[in-house]
Amino acid sequence: MRTGNLFVISGPSGAGKGTLVARLVREVPDAWVSISATTRSPRPGEVDGVHYQFMTVDDFRGLVDQDGFLEWAEVHGNYYGTPLAPIREHMATGGQVILEIDVQGALQVRDRIPEAHLVFIEPPSLEELERRLRGRGTESEDVIRTRMDNARLELSAKMEYDVQLVNDNLDESVKELVELVDSYARS
Ligand code: 5GP
Repeated sequence: MRTGNLFVISGPSGAGKGTLVARLVREVPDAWVSISATTRSPRPGEVDGVHYQFMTVDDFRGLVDQDGFLEWAEVHGNYYGTPLAPIREHMATGGQVILEIDVQGALQVRDRIPEAHLVFIEPPSLEELERRLRGRGTESEDVIRTRMDNARLELSAKMEYDVQLVNDNLDESVKELVELVDSYARS
């Protein structure tokens, strides 16, 4: 029988976390990805309740006051948080729970749940990261600059994580991540 585990995945925007996590969930049947709450506006194609729970600042603060988040943080000028109740449910039923959150949130999770496994996804280089961010074509120059500044900050925290994974080759990174999750799920 597989045991429930909590995995926290962080890394700068553009490092490929989203794609990696989507592939991981396809390959690990009992993996479940938490849907974060955020006060930022949806990007084109993002669906409420699927990519994020989009909420107002007042609603978000209300949930903070009710202790409804496992962790929360302000990232790029918006609030983001991990709703606590679904995490508890999935952990209780033995699922592999995946959080895709920023460094501030990851450190809060480690304090609250020390047995969580923290994985940092690194881009091959800062130049490559900038190229990927620009390639999305969805962000303004200001947003790209904020994200690059934030990337430098996030990278300086990578040694706080249990595992650092350089996302150079997507297939290889997926394989490593799947092996990691499976190894804890079987133990
Ligand atoms: P984006 O706006 O590009 O979707 O996400 C921006 C950043 O917020 C990413 O680094 C992402 O990992 C982080 N993030 C997303 N959800 C959460 C969350 O629930 N908590 C925290 N602390 N960070 C989050």
